[in-house]
Amino acid sequence: MTVPFFRPHIKAEEIAEVVDSLENGWLTTGPKVQKFEAAFAKYLGGGVEAVAVNSATAGLHLALEAIGIGPDDEVIVPDYTFTATAEVVRYLGGHPVFVDVDYGTMNITAENIEAAITEKTKAIMPVHFAGLPCKMTDIIAVAKKHGLKIVEDAAHAIPTKYNGAMIGQLDTDAAVFSFYANKTITTGEGGMLVTRDKELAKRARTMRLHGFNRDAFDRFKTGKWRYDVVAPGYKYNMTDIAGALGIHQLKKAEYFLQERKRVAKRYAAGLKNLPLDLPVDADGSDQHSWHIYIIRLQESAKVTRDQLFDTLSDNGITCSVHYTPLHNFTYWRDRYGLTPDRFPNAHRAGNNAMTLPLYVEMPDAEIDYVIETIKSALHL
Ligand SMILES: *Cc1c(COP(=O)(O)O)cnc(C)c1O
Repeated sequence: MTVPFFRPHIKAEEIAEVVDSLENGWLTTGPKVQKFEAAFAKYLGGGVEAVAVNSATAGLHLALEAIGIGPDDEVIVPDYTFTATAEVVRYLGGHPVFVDVDYGTMNITAENIEAAITEKTKAIMPVHFAGLPCKMTDIIAVAKKHGLKIVEDAAHAIPTKYNGAMIGQLDTDAAVFSFYANKTITTGEGGMLVTRDKELAKRARTMRLHGFNRDAFDRFKTGKWRYDVVAPGYKYNMTDIAGALGIHQLKKAEYFLQERKRVAKRYAAGLKNLPLDLPVDADGSDQHSWHIYIIRLQESAKVTRDQLFDTLSDNGITCSVHYTPLHNFTYWRDRYGLTPDRFPNAHRAGNNAMTLPLYVEMPDAEIDYVIETIKSALHL
């Protein structure tokens, strides 16, 4: 049997919508992106605005630009994340300040954030790791106490809830979602910046398209050609082809969640009582999106992560590793002189974590095959 790491759930409705875009000729940002933005804002609720972009990385860059991050400003980020979280700070000449995560949840904590605050700190970028919400009440309290902005890296977090509220409508400056190919909903490549701050949304809309004060669709609709350039903007707009996918993926977000939960539950039941740390679920009125399912080998395991990974691979099961902690990468290590002892939890997870296949409509037989293969590998 072979088990893919991920399979996007693209059906007739997505395909028909994309074909419609190809036939109507409006390929770039147009009516479908507008429709997707409106539907996304409505889905999150709380009166937020949604600004569609061509990646979450672009959205994070725009959010930091809009809150005024500039040269030598410090932005606190988790060490255990995808490199995009930190790289966008460098785009603006700022410095990411890396902090360790909690080992149990793999999320950044208010305590570690507060310990990293200096005179130069301007913002915090929490990552809702794997789709489990950070303890945002504490993080927001720290931000308010020190006058810091918060931009949530919500790449894994649709639909994640914190205290019953969707991520995207919390009391932060912005949250940015990813629609990369293997994210919980996908547009191939794409992202969404969400904010309640009207000025921030306006700035992001301007900066996502060359600093124009109006976009091509607006000019087309009004029949007026004149536009102004008010800033040296970027080329971060979402295409209507991607928007066409997003409209239908979003409609299925709740179904996708139920499916991911089913897979996560089956893994949890099948992998218990093994020398593994399994992911913790959200508690109370929080909701985990189950974007990825990460297991970590305990010290007592008789195999290493790399051995387990290879065994699964030899048996036709494709896994991944989320993540190599940023302090282990050449650029971040050398640029900021990072050493593993500063990030004991992230370092440990970086050595023993691996991500199992998980996708919508993954057959039980595949899940069970992954479980059985892990069990026999661990009993070597
Ligand atoms: C995927 C991801 C991103 C970047 O998303 P793109 O849409 O690919 O730019 C940022 N942060 C985290 C934590 C991610 O997993």
